[in-house]
Amino acid sequence: MTNPTTAPPAPGATADAVRKALTALGVDVLDGPHEARSPITGEVLARTAEHTETDVDTAVAAAHEAFLTWRDVPAPVRGNLVKRWGQLFTEHKAELALLVTAEAGKIESEALGEVQEMIDICDLAVGQSRQLFGRTLPSERPGHRLAETWHPLGVVGVISAFNFPVAVYAWNTALALVCGDAVVWKPAEATYLSAIGANALLAQAVRDVGAPEGIHQLVLADRAVGEALVDDPRVALVSATGSVRMGREVAPRVAARFGRVLLELGGNNAAIVAPSADLDLALRGIVFSAAGTAGQRCTTLRRLIVHTSVADELTGRIAAAYGTLTIGDPSAEGTLVGPLINRTSFEAQQRALTRAAAEGGEVVAGGARVLADEAPDAFYVQPAVVRMPDQSGVVQEETFAPILYVLAYDDLDEAIALQNGVPQGLSSSIFTQDQAEAERFLSASGSDCGIANVNIGTSGAEIGGAFGGEKETGGGRESGTDAWQAYMRRATNTVNYSGQLPLAQGVKFL
Ligand code: NAD
Repeated sequence: MTNPTTAPPAPGATADAVRKALTALGVDVLDGPHEARSPITGEVLARTAEHTETDVDTAVAAAHEAFLTWRDVPAPVRGNLVKRWGQLFTEHKAELALLVTAEAGKIESEALGEVQEMIDICDLAVGQSRQLFGRTLPSERPGHRLAETWHPLGVVGVISAFNFPVAVYAWNTALALVCGDAVVWKPAEATYLSAIGANALLAQAVRDVGAPEGIHQLVLADRAVGEALVDDPRVALVSATGSVRMGREVAPRVAARFGRVLLELGGNNAAIVAPSADLDLALRGIVFSAAGTAGQRCTTLRRLIVHTSVADELTGRIAAAYGTLTIGDPSAEGTLVGPLINRTSFEAQQRALTRAAAEGGEVVAGGARVLADEAPDAFYVQPAVVRMPDQSGVVQEETFAPILYVLAYDDLDEAIALQNGVPQGLSSSIFTQDQAEAERFLSASGSDCGIANVNIGTSGAEIGGAFGGEKETGGGRESGTDAWQAYMRRATNTVNYSGQLPLAQGVKFL
């Protein structure tokens, strides 16, 4: 059994520190009915507004009005706004990261990494602002030019999850802005302060470059009010990040009004460990992917599919490594595993472990709540490792907590079938030194996920590659080389300079 080190909360991410960070980000006084709580201690960090359906309506109207101007600003000039936003993220990296730690419970290094991702996507979007290219195609008719052009889409509604409280906003917004769109953002209920901070930096960038003020709107709304954004016909694209449950509610509503959706939903990610794998390397990749961010990434490693010849050794080594992880206050130096976001999340973790045991699972390490005396209103758990006889039950589901289910396999086809044998399709990896095995895993009949890695874990993507997943993960792609197309509409133009009127397909008329 593990005996993880714990670090009682003595937070650096206090209400006072949060207030100072917000002031540095240009946010003055906050007040209102919403209590922004710390998952580190359970204390109230600040009070904020809680918006209504009327506020959503006003925000969408203002965004739409601003869009009518913004769409005609040349794209490279729009890029200047995002360039400035990226500079402000660089200048205020520490303050924004502190808000992420305080509200989402991420350790400092991961919170800084999240802000770095925002800087990276701004860089990518600025370059993209000069490359919103269409194709020119050969026309079948003489004296004709056939071309595709891309135009701004309209208002983009961004709905984001608590676990990437600011990066997902930037992924969407940086691209949407260079594409000539306006953005209305509804962040997760647990992370309003981070949202207010990131939004304040965009407000400053807008002022600095003289862009229309209305192009970005923040609505602090719960999911019920968020539905007003989903249903609003002026919102051309709803980009929604969160659980599969949320996607099931949002997608049909948007489809009913023929709007567009971009869905980034839950994952149930697996890594295969082959007999030839470098186990030292695999161990590090597995522990970061499975226990990092307290298991609260969409790309968190949840299933380990390990060859029977190395299963005992590797499981034992993971359990031992888990015993060395410091769990506790994410703002304290040395902590590697912070809190779960709230009680509901802890209860889901406990339910999953109970169910796993009932289904024949053997808990090899962790799973218990820690620091309950020191922080009764916060929820820290030991990352768990559970050997399962098969993946027919609880393993099919994404439990948003650090639980790693271990399954054994004998041949690669069986391992790939297990990897693909869940409803979600976000991230996957294989640890192997056998090139043929790696290529098989990456082939058309290999992993069915949007992300398939070799010799690294399932989490920690770069913004240069398309991000998203298949099946119940929703099929959306953000970041990467062509994500910008989701934020634009395409027109096909046929220009006739022949002085004749030949019809396509040789049709004769008049
Ligand atoms: P959640 O689904 O509870 O909430 C996500 C967001 O959707 C919140 O802003 C919430 O208010 C909103 N929402 C929920 N129902 C809605 C509705 N009917 N109409 C409008 N808005 C609605 O998810 P969460 O607990 O905040 O985040 C964790 C989940 O998000 C996990 O399932 C995780 O895998 C997923 N996630 C996916 C990605 C990805 O890129 N694939 C990234 C981060 C998180």
